[in-house]
Amino acid sequence: MKNDNKKINKKKNIEYWENRLKGLGYKITEPRRAIISIFGNESKLYKADEIYLIVKKDYPDIGISTIYRTLELLTRLKLICKFNLGSERSYYLLSKDCYKDTAIYMICDNCGRVIIDNDCLNNAVKIRLIDNAEKHIFKNCMLKVSKFQIIFSGLCDKCVVGKLENPE
Ligand SMILES: [Zn+2]
Repeated sequence: MKNDNKKINKKKNIEYWENRLKGLGYKITEPRRAIISIFGNESKLYKADEIYLIVKKDYPDIGISTIYRTLELLTRLKLICKFNLGSERSYYLLSKDCYKDTAIYMICDNCGRVIIDNDCLNNAVKIRLIDNAEKHIFKNCMLKVSKFQIIFSGLCDKCVVGKLENPE
């Protein structure tokens, strides 16, 4: 049941993005469709080369430059966004998850799963963290905070189990 709902949501999301793209005057080419369907509705970070490998399975002739061009276009249109983690790692994420002024992200370093503003960061933690930080930043650094993004990274539940079963 849950899986069926997931499938329907994914289909709806893909239709939504395709309509957005069409509405902005762009054609739905096969690479565009393939890339959009990868993002589907899963909150997950993808690297360009990961997307390339997935799309290549169905479109063996596709080149990495087409992938980069399509990702750039989708980023420019704000259908997806580029997310930089550290200086050398850029990832792409579905834009509903990243065009927020204020967000707390938890990212799995291993599989790229993204958890955003999850209930597990309960309100008490959020309020303490944000209110305190805002006060201190204003007092000590003379900045009135209006937006913030906080990233926690580590291993998600699945990857922790995987690492325990197959230690390096
Ligand atoms: Zn993981």
